[in-house]
Amino acid sequence: MIIALDGPAAAGKGTLAKALAAHFGVPHLDTGSLYRAVASKALREKLAPEIAAAQFAASDLAAPDLRSEAVGKHASVVSAIPAVRASLLEFQRNFARQPGGAVLDGRDVGTVVCPWPEVAKIFVTASAQARATRRFKELLARGETPIYERVFADLTERDRRDSERAAAPMKPADDAELLDTSDLDAAAAFQAALALIAAKTRG
Ligand code: C5P
Repeated sequence: MIIALDGPAAAGKGTLAKALAAHFGVPHLDTGSLYRAVASKALREKLAPEIAAAQFAASDLAAPDLRSEAVGKHASVVSAIPAVRASLLEFQRNFARQPGGAVLDGRDVGTVVCPWPEVAKIFVTASAQARATRRFKELLARGETPIYERVFADLTERDRRDSERAAAPMKPADDAELLDTSDLDAAAAFQAALALIAAKTRG
């Protein structure tokens, strides 16, 4: 079984993806980390993003600055380049197609990477306020000193870039189920996702 979770930043996809992967005993790929790895390498080695993406190897996922805000922001810029997306497609498809299945989360997993009808697709969303509050708390917990208004503005700007780009824009697949986590904690979101997946499997 392949489970595809897409949606905007800080909607709860990552936490949900890890919980579902553990529950079903399948591996999980955070596809955003591939774009982050390309962004990090392009910045560090002063490479054109297309070149950094063409050279992508799984070892790039170990870059120490992968989760930084600067790399996340640059990832959303390099990910709008079609050649960058094309270079990363096969790695994602190979991961999805391993025996036993997989959970992938990102922006275009259900629409481009794994558009096939048998894939369980969930578009995870939440209000901009709920997402900015979550991201703000994450940054505080990491020992950073975030400013809420800045976090909110960065998040909405990133969503705008991700959903308005021409190449694989962030949007629900036609056969995706919507899951709004604004008022759900991680446990409630997990239960809701399990119910959607069970309904899909029953077909
Ligand atoms: O999810 P995360 O914040 O780590 O993703 C970083 C950026 O990578 C996103 O803002 C988006 O621009 C890009 N991305 C993408 N397609 C995916 C996953 C992430 O374009 N499937």
